[in-house]
Amino acid sequence: MTDTVTDAPPRHIPEDLPTTIQHYIGGRFVDSVDADTFDVLDPVSNQVYLTAAAGKQADVDLAVEAATTAFRDGPWPRLLPRERSRILHRVADIVESRDARLAELESFDSGLPITQALGQARRAAENFRFFADLIVAQSDDTYKVPGRQINYVNRTPIGVAGLITPWNTPFMLESWKLAPALATGNTVVLKPAEFTPLSASLWAGIFEEAGLPDGVFNLVNGLGEEAGDALVKHPGVPLISFTGESSTGQLIFANAAPFLKGLSMELGGKSPAVVFADADLDAAIDATIFGVFSLNGERCTAGSRILVERSIYDEFVERYAAQAQRVVVGYPHDPATEVGALVHPEHYDKVVSYIEIGKNEARLVAGGGRPEGFETGNFVQPTVFADVVPDARIFQEEIFGPVVAITPFDTEDEALRLANGVRYGLAAYIWTKDLERAHNFSQSVEAGMVWLNSNNVRDLRTPFGGVKASGLGHEGGYRSIDFYTQQQAVHITLGKVHNPTFGKSDAAAH
Ligand code: NAD
Repeated sequence: MTDTVTDAPPRHIPEDLPTTIQHYIGGRFVDSVDADTFDVLDPVSNQVYLTAAAGKQADVDLAVEAATTAFRDGPWPRLLPRERSRILHRVADIVESRDARLAELESFDSGLPITQALGQARRAAENFRFFADLIVAQSDDTYKVPGRQINYVNRTPIGVAGLITPWNTPFMLESWKLAPALATGNTVVLKPAEFTPLSASLWAGIFEEAGLPDGVFNLVNGLGEEAGDALVKHPGVPLISFTGESSTGQLIFANAAPFLKGLSMELGGKSPAVVFADADLDAAIDATIFGVFSLNGERCTAGSRILVERSIYDEFVERYAAQAQRVVVGYPHDPATEVGALVHPEHYDKVVSYIEIGKNEARLVAGGGRPEGFETGNFVQPTVFADVVPDARIFQEEIFGPVVAITPFDTEDEALRLANGVRYGLAAYIWTKDLERAHNFSQSVEAGMVWLNSNNVRDLRTPFGGVKASGLGHEGGYRSIDFYTQQQAVHITLGKVHNPTFGKSDAAAH
């Protein structure tokens, strides 16, 4: 049986919890032009606790207008990098100083365990600090052609960046886009996920306090098909950075095509964790448990398929299942909780439907439904399926919850075929002590990011992004700076230029 926490009160309501949220456009909080709103639930009670302004095209038009004015006439794009950096460091300071409150609100809104929401709040601050530092360290290329030319790169912000974000770790993922977009001097319109708009509304106050000029940051809440769609199709928004499902990414790609927009697509995943017989089994089990059950399994880089070499397979499955059963499901606000409540009843239904599919496709060895003691709310037991065949739906499709598929393999080639045998290619985790195999396997696996003998520990300087259906383009470190800037090549002639001369020949005149 899954351990449960039963001594905590079932629903912790943060003090001063807002009951309405508005858009933030041109430095002012405003309702929707048509006054429309949508309801937001908390995942423990599934009761409406908040109504949020539901943005449509008219609201997006106003936000883009404010952002365009701030870009065209305001100081932000013209500030020295150091001046922008100071403001971004102040943002990081404020976020750090309020990490507990941010975590409390995020955990309430999204169902993330409070300790993990706190970690994500600190990561958000770190994202701002990182890009604040990077922008002052940024230098651009200069090329010399001896005696003939000096050529240099004139890097400039692009304009209004449209940022569209998902509901998993919302505040942190927003920071991952906001920090580089702002550091490089763009102005932005953020459209956060409609399941979790609470923490996004806090950015406005944080930016005001840090000294960001009005109109640089704009926020439009609303549904993807309305507010998100209007942003994607707005001709005044040359850049869209999107994180979300692969199918939404495909739609956005098509909708942005007539405008030839710059697109960065961070999409879904079904990442393999490959455990060879020579691995440090204790570390591999701890990491693969964390890899799929942290953040409620609502994690794009979750290692949701574990491939295990046959000689250790039975032992691995037995130990893994036993440990998964000990993972503590609990109320999100309880510090002892390791898996909280899934974000929304619609998502809960999706995850549970995959668990039912899995019961017909594979051998259930842990979990399999609602934990005891949690009759309401979006609680799911950490669920483990073994002997999962590669054409099973639970092997192929992203579940985005605390559900893992374990599959045996006999040879390295088979492990690679299994690892690569899905449409996604976001992350891969390889567990082996054999150095040669570790590198060869890493370099052959179809994944944007690989961790060797490690869970997902990020170095913010490295490229972040997926291959195949997991994404297009890379952010992370200087790649984010590249995405949010134009690089104009300026060529300077040093001497007499060699001009091929057309139109001087007498013969050609006749
Ligand atoms: P989603 O695609 O449903 O929604 C993401 C955002 O897009 C939301 O703000 C939504 O309102 C908006 N949207 C929806 N339809 C739109 C449209 N037609 N036009 C414009 N915007 C639209 O994704 P989700 O369910 O919120 O998030 C979970 C997904 O995100 C998972 O697939 C997960 O793997 C992925 N994800 C990827 C990464 C990554 O870095 N690769 C990180 C986190 C999450």
